[in-house]
Amino acid sequence: MVDKFDKKLPSLFIASLLFIGGIILLSLKITGWSLFLGLPATQIGLVLLIFSFDSFGRKKETEGDYHLIPCLLCHRQTLTPKYIDKKICESCQVKIAQRVKVAFLALYVLAIIPLSLSLVGKRQEIRMKAKEIAPVPTKGGPTPATCETGFWEPDSCRCGEWNENINCPEEKEGRTCDFNEYCCQFNEDHRWDCQPL
Ligand SMILES: [Zn+2]
Repeated sequence: MVDKFDKKLPSLFIASLLFIGGIILLSLKITGWSLFLGLPATQIGLVLLIFSFDSFGRKKETEGDYHLIPCLLCHRQTLTPKYIDKKICESCQVKIAQRVKVAFLALYVLAIIPLSLSLVGKRQEIRMKAKEIAPVPTKGGPTPATCETGFWEPDSCRCGEWNENINCPEEKEGRTCDFNEYCCQFNEDHRWDCQPL
C-alpha cells in the first residue's frame, strides 16, 4: 500500500503544482498571460488531481473481494466490489447518460427557441411602439393633420392643423393645410373659407 502510494506521489505533486500554479497565475492578473496560461494550468491540474485520486480509489478496490450482483436495470450479472450491493451496469450507465444528454438537448431547444422568439417579438413590439410614438407632434417639427367635418374652401383645408402663431386678422383663425399657411373664417353659409397667407 505504501509502495503504491509512493508511486502515485509524483503525479499528485505535479497535479497540485499545476493547479496551485494556475490559481496563482490567475490571481496575479498579468494581462494576457494570466488567462492564457493560468486557466489551462488550473483546468489540467484539476483533471489530473481527480484522476490521481480516482486511481487511489481503484487501488483500494482491487484489495477487496468481488462478487456478482444483478444490474438494477437490465438484471445482467456484473462484477462489483463486495461492499457495493446495488449497481447499474456500465452499458446501462452509458444508456442513461445518452438519454440524459438527449433530454438536456431537447430541454435546451425547447427553452431557447421560445426565448429567442419572445425576444424577437419584444423587439418588434418596441419597433411598432416607436412607430406609433413617432407621429406625435414635436416642437418645431411637422404636426399631424386633423380632419374636420363640414364644407371647406379649399377642400384640402378640411385636413390640417389649427395654428395660433400665424399672422391672421383677428376674426380669422390660422391653419396649416398641406404644408401651406391659411387664414380661415366660418361664413354665414356654414362654410369654412380659407385664404392663403
Ligand atoms: Zn444494466
